[in-house]
This record gives sequence, structure tokens and C-alpha cells, in this order.
Amino acid sequence: MTTSEPTNLLGLSRAELKTLFTELGEKPFRAEQVMKWIHQRGVIDFDSMTDISKKLREQLKSATRISLPKVIAEYPSEDGSCKWIIEVASGSRVEMVFIPEAGRGTLCVSSQAGCSLDCSFCATGKQGFDSNLSAAEIVGQLWIANEKLGAFSPEQKRGISNVVMMGMGEPLLNFDNVMAAISVMMDDCAYGLSKRKVTISTSGVVPAIRRLKEHTDASIAVSLHAPNDQLRSEIMPINNRYPIAELLAAVREYMDSLPDRRVPVIEYTLIKGVNDHRQHARELAELLRDFPCKINLIPFNPFSLSDFQRPSSTSVSNFRHILQEAGFTVTVRTTRADDIGAACGQLVGDIADRTRRSERHLANAGKSGRNTANLAVSADS
Ligand code: SAH
Ligand code: SF4
Repeated sequence: MTTSEPTNLLGLSRAELKTLFTELGEKPFRAEQVMKWIHQRGVIDFDSMTDISKKLREQLKSATRISLPKVIAEYPSEDGSCKWIIEVASGSRVEMVFIPEAGRGTLCVSSQAGCSLDCSFCATGKQGFDSNLSAAEIVGQLWIANEKLGAFSPEQKRGISNVVMMGMGEPLLNFDNVMAAISVMMDDCAYGLSKRKVTISTSGVVPAIRRLKEHTDASIAVSLHAPNDQLRSEIMPINNRYPIAELLAAVREYMDSLPDRRVPVIEYTLIKGVNDHRQHARELAELLRDFPCKINLIPFNPFSLSDFQRPSSTSVSNFRHILQEAGFTVTVRTTRADDIGAACGQLVGDIADRTRRSERHLANAGKSGRNTANLAVSADS
């Protein structure tokens, strides 16, 4: 066993900080002061926390720390997006992406290095699982992005207004750390993001969705990607464990537990010749007929290890049209940051890592002989 590191305050919720201060013989309100220093003013040096006594600062310095993941590289995109690669404690590298849009700035946050779920259309899935990020490493991405954007400066340049847990990894397979991190993101003494502005995207870890309501009221997005179990299991192995009916029931239960009227987003990545036929759109409309939701279509983002292709824009608009005619609110995600490999499903950490892990994955895939191609024709054909 290694000796444990001093507690990293960056990832502690207000309740956890209060406990810590009580244990140090201090008043619990110190938690709020320290949170504001770290998350609202961007101060991570105890000596600069001027409303905290020198004695307590010394105590904090010896018993705790405030440490951020290391930024390895920054890739600004021509469209104003920016991707950062950060190194986490396990030595793995993960990516986070800033996407500016009119009136808002969204940060796409990673929850794991790699992912164990092996969806056939996802670059992160091709890497296999490396490690869970700590709560501090998850919150740290928001801190770093705000710092890079100048949001901590007194002039308050535009910072992050929305967080989507749509970076690398499956957030609900790193449940405790993700819950702790989003509680900091949503805390008024920290980033104060509202429940509508923090979205957990999940491929459908049903038992975790069922537990969600005890821990948060954040918004959710569900990666469905197919209108029936047979096709979904072909492209998302998790569907063999938690089929569509169970998944939708768990999501409905979560939405019903929320006091406000909010609907989940159903994400549907359109892959040419696999799930983008008109018949798939009709089947999807039928499946979701009594399921309140918005649908977000994501044209597949290609990457080197995949033979899948992006459908034509005609095919995407045909698919969208069928759903709209059936009464759904449908958005199509425009591909951003394509030039820096930061679009959905293209996130892989650093290049050296990518090659090494991909080789390993390919060797494993060869053993299992999985084959998901050649399933159907496109909606424009
Ligand atoms: N693990 C979570 C969150 C990360 S993936 C999940 O699966 O929901 C974020 C979104 O990008 C998911 O909807 C995922 O299915 C989608 N995605 C993955 N690979 C993609 C690709 N190559 N092109 C388009 N979307 C992709
Ligand atoms: Fe994991 Fe999500 Fe990628 Fe599937 S789509 S492999 S769940 S990160």
C-alpha cells in the first residue's frame, strides 16, 4: 500500500468540505469561503486566501492540497472550439473540448480514461478502459477551461455556461466521482450551473440510472443509436445487458422523479448503411411514441480505426423529416472542431497512447471476431 496523498480540495463537495473543517476544529462556513476562492476566483494558493487566518492556512497547507490535472496540449480549432489534453494521476491522457455558441459556452468533459463499453462506432471505446477520473480531475477540467477563457479575471470574460459529460468514458460507470464533481459544478459557492445546464450522457447503465435520483437532479442524455434491440446490441454491447425497454423505463422513472417538467435527450448517431434507413426512423418514432424526449441526431464522425461512414446530408435530413412529421423535436448536431479531432466520439487522448492502445485493441478484436458492418442501406439510397 502507498501512503495516501493529502486530500485534494478541488473535488470536494460543500458537505465534504464542511466535514473537513469541522474535523480541523473550524467553523463549517469556511467551506463556503474556500469554495469561492477556488472555483469562483480561481485561486489555488492558500496564501492568497486573505479572509482565512494565517494559522488555518498553515493547517490547510500541511493537511490538504489543491492540485489540478496537468495540461499537456491545447488545440484551438478554426471554428473557435478548443481541445485540451490533460494528464491524470494514472498517467493516462484525456481530452476536454470547449464549444462556443451564441450566448453560451459548452464544455465537453471526460469522466474516464478510455471506456470499457466498446461501442463499435466510438474511438474512445476502441481504446479499452484505462482508469476512472477522480472528482478533482473531473471538476479540474471546468476550472482549467474557465481559467484559459479568462473567466476568473475581475473583468469576467465569458466562461463555461454548460457542461456535458460527453467526453471520454461512461460517466455512470464512475458514479461516485461524477456525482461529487457535478455537485461542485452546480453549487452556488462554486460554478452555480443549473440542473438544466449540466447533462450526463449515458450509454444506458440501467442500475446507475435507477440510483441517479438519490444523488442529483442534473439533465440526462441517452445514447440510443438504434430503434430495436437487435441492431442496438450489434453496435453497443451494453444492450445485451440492459435492453431498450429496461433503459427507457429507468430513464422515465428518473425524469418522473424530477419536480420540473424536463425531458431527456435521445442521442442517435447516424451511421451510413447501419442505422440511417428511413425504416429505422419510422421504427424509432414508433418506439418513442409515448416517451417524452427530444431527439438529437449526430452524423457519425469518422476516425481512422473505423470503417463506418458518415451518411449524406440528404440521408440525415430525410431521417430528421420522418421524426419531425411524427411530432418530435429534432436537432442535428453540427460537427464542430473536426479539424482538431474533437468531435463526438473522436476523443482518444494523446497520439502515442492512441497508437499503442489501438494496437492492443485490434489484437483483442481479432480474437473476438466481432463484426458489426453491413447491416442495412441508407435513407438516401
Ligand atoms: N459514454 C457516454 C458519453 C460519451 S460519448 C455515452 O456513450 O453516452 C458522447 C456521445 O458521442 C454519445 O452519444 C456517443 O454515442 C457519441 N459518439 C461516440 N462515437 C461517435 C462517433 N464516432 N460519431 C458520432 N457520435 C459518436
Ligand atoms: Fe464508451 Fe460512450 Fe464511447 Fe460507448 S460511446 S464506448 S459508452 S464513451
